[in-house]
Amino acid sequence: MVLTGKNAIVTGSTSGIGLAIAHTLAGEGCNIMLNGMGDKAAIDALVAEFPRKYGIKTVYSGADMSKPGEIRQMAADCATEIGGADIVVNNAGIQCVSPVEEFPDDKWDAVIAINLSAAFHLIKATVPGMRKNNFGRIINIASAHGLVASANKSAYVAAKHGIVGLTKTVALETAESGITCNAICPGWVNTPLVQKQIEAKAKEGNISIAQATANLLGEKQPNKKFIQPESIGALIAFLCGAHGEAMTGEILSIDGGWTAQ
Ligand code: NAD
Repeated sequence: MVLTGKNAIVTGSTSGIGLAIAHTLAGEGCNIMLNGMGDKAAIDALVAEFPRKYGIKTVYSGADMSKPGEIRQMAADCATEIGGADIVVNNAGIQCVSPVEEFPDDKWDAVIAINLSAAFHLIKATVPGMRKNNFGRIINIASAHGLVASANKSAYVAAKHGIVGLTKTVALETAESGITCNAICPGWVNTPLVQKQIEAKAKEGNISIAQATANLLGEKQPNKKFIQPESIGALIAFLCGAHGEAMTGEILSIDGGWTAQ
């Protein structure tokens, strides 16, 4: 229980990687502000489950990560409802797959807003409180696509490369203040975001879901296995604990060998 008494905002924590991260931090005693889209009953169930399971405070913000005003309000609500954010995990993200010349303008704007600008707005809103406390942990969920590109993902790759740059800059600006800022670059994790891509591949190639999954892993990820979201959670718990103190501005891959190629 290395994070007892700390407060974390995890964006996009109603599903996939963000939800696993929220579980890991809560398991370490951290109070959690959940965020993300989804079915109201399922979200209510999560807000009830976390305190019961982990004995921590849990609140939810429905802030839309494409709206800067709602992001600022989420940070303010966190301070009022559980206490100022000591830990911020910028995880919310969306994908759009299309050749650049056909890429819909509105999808470009949404991917950049949710996957990149949201992290800027939340960092800006929470760093002043972290500076006052001489403690803060900012973790940005980038991607292997923060380091290398894939065709047909121009907005996503641009956003993820951008968040790697944002991470390094914030790390330099906060280096003497007890705040660290790091990025994690996962390879394939089997979440709804990736399932949609597998289904599209299966349809396009008229192949089974199992074959499309094998093709997806085989194209990019040498270990040919999905990354477990709990492994990302465990890495974040390490970064948030005492031994993470000197790690800042790091761009940490957890990608089954993807970017070793
Ligand atoms: P997911 O679709 O399971 O979860 C995305 C989360 O973001 C959900 O909770 C969703 O409600 C939330 N979200 C989406 N739009 C939002 C908005 N406008 N406002 C608030 N919340 C919003 O996806 P995931 O795979 O768990 O992805 C999480 C992060 O991990 C993303 O940043 C993604 O780019 C990154 N990532 C995923 C993989 C992978 O293979 N799944 C690999 C590398 C990086």
